[in-house]
Amino acid sequence: MNGGCDQSMFREKLQLLHDRSLLRTLTQLESATGASVQYGGREVILLSSNDYLGLTTHPEVVQAALVATERYGTGSGASRLVSGTLPPHACLETTLAMFKGTEAALLFGAGYLANLGVIPALIGKGGLILADRLCHASVIDACRLSLADFRIFRHGDCDHVESLLRSRTTERPTLIITEGVFSMDGDLAPLPDLVSLAERYGAMLYVDDAHGTGIMGTTGRGTVEHFGLERRIPFHMGTLSKALGSHGAFLVGTRDLVQYVINTARAFIFTTALPPAVAAASSAALTVIDREPERRARLWSNRQRFFDGLKTLGCRLTPTASPILPVLVGDAARASALAERLLAHGVYAAAIRPPTVPDGTSRIRFTVTSEHTTDQLDKALNALRLVIRETGLV
Ligand SMILES: *Cc1c(COP(=O)(O)O)cnc(C)c1O
Repeated sequence: MNGGCDQSMFREKLQLLHDRSLLRTLTQLESATGASVQYGGREVILLSSNDYLGLTTHPEVVQAALVATERYGTGSGASRLVSGTLPPHACLETTLAMFKGTEAALLFGAGYLANLGVIPALIGKGGLILADRLCHASVIDACRLSLADFRIFRHGDCDHVESLLRSRTTERPTLIITEGVFSMDGDLAPLPDLVSLAERYGAMLYVDDAHGTGIMGTTGRGTVEHFGLERRIPFHMGTLSKALGSHGAFLVGTRDLVQYVINTARAFIFTTALPPAVAAASSAALTVIDREPERRARLWSNRQRFFDGLKTLGCRLTPTASPILPVLVGDAARASALAERLLAHGVYAAAIRPPTVPDGTSRIRFTVTSEHTTDQLDKALNALRLVIRETGLV
């Protein structure tokens, strides 16, 4: 008996993915992630983590998580609206609002959940969403969930946004969605122009700053700070899971918006609050970001070194302006082969394939952090040089 479920169906579907070089498997690491990691019984240089400032293992951040666990336990026990709001949650929300210069902040269980919760709270049936073609899967899912009409605009193309805004025949709620730093291309959204369009055409602007928070702007406040648009972008979303080194996400904005989202966002209401340790770790991370600006300085100088190295090797890059440095390969099979060869040379960097990126734009997505030594970066570049020569790829 198999409960009416024929397991061979799964095997066939997996085989199809495998044949197209699109099969995904989990790789288990054997140590904490950092500039390098234990994998397959040896140490490899890790160039695939979003822990840009090395905060996942920062002693003060780890200590904050330990103390919070001792004091409040491992779980929050319920949704925030039931009995899950503990002092570390309230403290982190206050700290985040201060960090971002907004009236209020609201935590979510993950970036995925923040988008799933906030976007349908902002707009629903009868509304119109205009989203950048390269927006994260969670944004796309949220748009579908909202039941609003949903149009994609060409990546970073404000003329396209404007023509879509113009072609509205009736006045209707409109939401423009972009990422601050694009997660797979590493380039920045044209935020000043998007804000102007939003103002001119009476649309809301939603920025997913998962990759900007902690690293962009002179004080690491994010992409909004980078462009000096704090006064014109009244709310945005970011994550705690990348540069802040822990887990979860947040919305920052006015008190009214936050109260409204608390009352309407199903992905906030119907899920258990973040563990207290995670909230406490993020608060500590924000303190470290302010106190140790040298981490950001090291990140950007590492980024420049690796970027220059990739250019010297003749790699085809995206128009990146961040520590995300994707080398475009094109074909999924070639990208997988390149990643495999790199690993054999002691460099762990993930091949990113469809549906994460559009067809024909498979790539090796390198990310550098403040914790890489110049020696590690040079070794990785040298490995890439050898692999390119061996395989003729790139
Ligand atoms: C990583 C990411 C998310 C999801 O965040 P998680 O905390 O990992 O769920 C959402 N949006 C963008 C742009 C991201 O890069």
